[in-house]
Amino acid sequence: MENLNENGNVQKNFCANCGSELNPNAQFCGNCGAPVQKAEVQQPANVQPTYNQTNTNNNFTNNIPPEYQPISMWGYFGYELLFSIPCVGFILLLVFSFGGTKNQNLRNFARSYFCYMILVAVLAFIFILIFGGIGAFTGSMYSNLY
Ligand SMILES: [Zn+2]
Repeated sequence: MENLNENGNVQKNFCANCGSELNPNAQFCGNCGAPVQKAEVQQPANVQPTYNQTNTNNNFTNNIPPEYQPISMWGYFGYELLFSIPCVGFILLLVFSFGGTKNQNLRNFARSYFCYMILVAVLAFIFILIFGGIGAFTGSMYSNLY
């Protein structure tokens, strides 16, 4: 039997004490009788670092760069309140939407809120047109009656 090292070559062991060649499975040196410690000597130096799984889970949000830090539920709620302030909120919305913040989550949230506000404004405009039109129509009818 031959011991193979990582490269697939025949591995030759030498006595740590006297330096003579050893049999692959020898427990003791045939020359001087010193015990062979090949198991400890042949261990690879670069062992994969072991890390604690629960520890990495706890530190997960701390390892995220600031651009991708998640916003908490209350964070979203706070920004929503902020954006719903007339004029000031809309300015903040524009600032966050167009590069005012490094945080991707906040930017996307601001953009989605911006689209939502446009949608609401368009719907409100349509409602005003419809009901305003009806109001004008009925108003003209009433004015014709009198
Ligand atoms: Zn020896």
